[in-house]
Amino acid sequence: MHNIPSILQDYIKENIAYPVGIIGCRATDPETSLECCEYDLAIFGQQSESNKVLNVGNHTIELINLPIIHSHDRLVTKDMILMPNKECLLLPSFLSSQNYANLLRAFGRKLMISSALYHQRIMSNLHKSDVLASIWLKLSAYDFLEGLLAVSGFKPMPIHELSQIRQLTMKNQVVANAVKDALECIGLERASTTSIRRSSEGLVKLRYRQYDTDLFISKVQYMLKRGMLSDCYYYIGKIAARDLIKNERTENYDMKLTQTVLDLNHDVIKIERLHANLFVACKLLLNY
Ligand SMILES: [Zn+2]
Repeated sequence: MHNIPSILQDYIKENIAYPVGIIGCRATDPETSLECCEYDLAIFGQQSESNKVLNVGNHTIELINLPIIHSHDRLVTKDMILMPNKECLLLPSFLSSQNYANLLRAFGRKLMISSALYHQRIMSNLHKSDVLASIWLKLSAYDFLEGLLAVSGFKPMPIHELSQIRQLTMKNQVVANAVKDALECIGLERASTTSIRRSSEGLVKLRYRQYDTDLFISKVQYMLKRGMLSDCYYYIGKIAARDLIKNERTENYDMKLTQTVLDLNHDVIKIERLHANLFVACKLLLNY
């Protein structure tokens, strides 16, 4: 419990009548946490409550309700800090899950498959709509990188993902080149204060009324202030890609705004080259 400020421990004791697990980087990887990282509180068993973001003292907390535990939740709750004053019949069987490594690997492979599955959409739009081809390419690159982290044994965390990728040691040259290509698909070389402001303002408009938008803004501001331009650019694209996939609304989206948010590249020859390399690396990793 040494990493959890006492004001937060008191808040949990006094306000949450369910077992709570502190998850996310604050619990599992506190040395990589940034000041802007929130404390993620998984609340087990509580029904019909929405997730929310609150401030407690100087800290930001995100309340994440997990009324039922799915297999992916076993990944996010690995090494969580359980609040000792709470008891729940549900937890022992859940915590005894031994297969974390297998689950993480399966999660990574699923993302690799999803990245490869964008192949058809990219190819079919290549000479029809460079905008759609470019959107799918970017989503494919994000899935590829997140998948690679997971199959390599890292639990991906959006705000830390770029630095996690930079820590990967890649023995296979095809994979190492694909990582460079994926970062080029994402457009990391275009990260600047101007592109970040434009994309983040657009994303705030696109994700109007989502409960965690203020948290997103504060993270972007934190990174901008500290000159973490590449991490910030990567993070904004990642959140935008997640929203797009989650809502499955790419066809109905405000395309103009989406283009701004994703800061798309329209060079068809480049899209084709990057995509081909990514696709080969995906297939290679899936055959391991
Ligand atoms: Zn963090």
